[in-house]
Amino acid sequence: MPNKILFCGDPHGNFKQIVFAVFKYKTQAIVLLGDYNLDVPLERQLQPIIGMTRIYWIPGNHDFDSVAEHENLFNSALYYNNLHLKVVDIDGLRIAGLGGIFMERIWMPGSIPKWIGKKHWLQCKPSNVKKIPLHLDNAIWHHEFERMKKSVRADILVTHVAPSCHRHGFKVIDELAEAIGATKIFHGLHHKYYQDSVSSIDVTGAPIGGVVNLAGERLMGGK
Ligand SMILES: [Zn+2]
Repeated sequence: MPNKILFCGDPHGNFKQIVFAVFKYKTQAIVLLGDYNLDVPLERQLQPIIGMTRIYWIPGNHDFDSVAEHENLFNSALYYNNLHLKVVDIDGLRIAGLGGIFMERIWMPGSIPKWIGKKHWLQCKPSNVKKIPLHLDNAIWHHEFERMKKSVRADILVTHVAPSCHRHGFKVIDELAEAIGATKIFHGLHHKYYQDSVSSIDVTGAPIGGVVNLAGERLMGGK
């Protein structure tokens, strides 16, 4: 049943193929891989399939572009289905999520983190700065990444950034998947469909606005 869970590449405002796929394949759950560009709350974009399937998501980098887009995601009715740094069990399959991107100003793998964590960043700012600003909130923070690596166990890892088999990918994503015991990685960000592997982990890049299944087969969308 490879179509029981579907993974959805960056919609960037276009959710048609995702909705269509849920109707067509009567899927149990979908996992959205980031970059929604929401002009209305997420549950309104997905209105036709609410109640038909379980909907999970991770944030991309463009979900922090404006306050409105951020609120339409993080204050949506689907807020609690954010898989960033979390694991969900869907019919016996554990799926772990890592949203966001690596940022030079925070932590770029291969170099020493500029900031150990959000607390560290906030402590070094004037006391009137109480939260991480939007333009830094899409970063992957070193301490959260390391904690996930140590504490999470899952069968599948979903990320926005790519592992090392992609030319813009990162070896630390391979290592994260390995550490948590995942045998598959699904990611967004690069908008193009491909299948590859790192060590014995199957990797699928999801196409923009499109859908792939558990076997990494493209069902909808993209080039
Ligand atoms: Zn994107």
